[in-house]
Amino acid sequence: MTTHVEDSRLDGNAIGGLLSEVFALEMTAAVSTCAHCGAVNEIGRVQVYVHGPGTVVRCPECEQVLMRIVRGGGRYWLDMTGVRSLELSAQT
Ligand SMILES: [Zn+2]
Repeated sequence: MTTHVEDSRLDGNAIGGLLSEVFALEMTAAVSTCAHCGAVNEIGRVQVYVHGPGTVVRCPECEQVLMRIVRGGGRYWLDMTGVRSLELSAQT
C-alpha cells in the first residue's frame, strides 16, 4: 500500500493551534541555537539592543544577529534568520 504525500498535506490553517501553543510558552528559558556559530544559549542569556528602530538580539558568543523584532502600527515583525533552532519546554 502506497501513501501519497498529497494525502497528508494540509494548508497553514492546520497549524494555527500548534503555533498558538508555542508562542504562548515562557520564552526566557527557551534555548536557541545560533545559525552562525552553533552556540547554544537560553534566551535569558543573549544580548539585547533596544535603541534601534526595533529590538535586535545578538549571540553572546559571535555577536551575530539572532533575531530582530519590530512592533508598530498594531503589528509585529519577527525575523529569526539567525536562529537555527529554538527549543521550548512544554511545561507551563
Ligand atoms: Zn553565534
